Amino acid sequence: MDAAVEKDTGHGALGEAEREEAFRRLREHMPGRTPSAKGPKDQPDPFRSVVSCLLSAQSRDVNTAAAAKALFAFAKTPDAMLKLSEEEIARAIKPCGLYNMKAKSIRRLCAALIEEHDRVVPQTREGLMALPGIGRKCADIVMSFTFDEDVIAVDTHVFRVCNRTGITNERTADKTAAALERLVPDWARRDGHFWLLQFGKTVCLSRRPRCETCFLNDICRWFAAARDA
Ligand code: SF4
Repeated sequence: MDAAVEKDTGHGALGEAEREEAFRRLREHMPGRTPSAKGPKDQPDPFRSVVSCLLSAQSRDVNTAAAAKALFAFAKTPDAMLKLSEEEIARAIKPCGLYNMKAKSIRRLCAALIEEHDRVVPQTREGLMALPGIGRKCADIVMSFTFDEDVIAVDTHVFRVCNRTGITNERTADKTAAALERLVPDWARRDGHFWLLQFGKTVCLSRRPRCETCFLNDICRWFAAARDA
């Protein structure tokens, strides 16, 4: 298992009342969804959003943006994309890494959209996850940002925060997403991703979490384990 995952997980789960309290405090302290929360990666339509999300796997935002810009300069629709060869797509998306595999997936994704979905990107998690190259994280990001659904997508920040605090007690992103689906109070679903993301970027940092001044440190399982060690 990844050393960071090993370090961030396995410290226990919050009870229902503590979980509610954690979300109440996150709501109080962190910004929620805003009208400018567009994406993923600020793409203007569902097709480009889903392709951009596919490009983002194991890639930094800046490299994903460069790859998407180069690719969409050549093609902006599934039909136009399929006119490009796998090599041409791979060359365009080189900045985002894993470009040969992603080029193959993009062509398969476009073919599936044309043949099975009448060129329309599905608006359900199941439909998105059935597309080549699209996993749960990508499907949830598209659901949340592109289709404005109340879904908590689990990226690296959300995963770390949830499993350090004990909001969830899981060791993979997909299991964390499934647990959030079961455990998060209804009122926290719309903004939950945004609260957790901002909290992960500003307080519960990957390398040096600001535990001493954190507003969750009295209930956080990771902090309790570190303190008692
Ligand atoms: S106490 Fe530390 S580990 Fe726990 S949520 Fe706060 S910053 Fe993160």
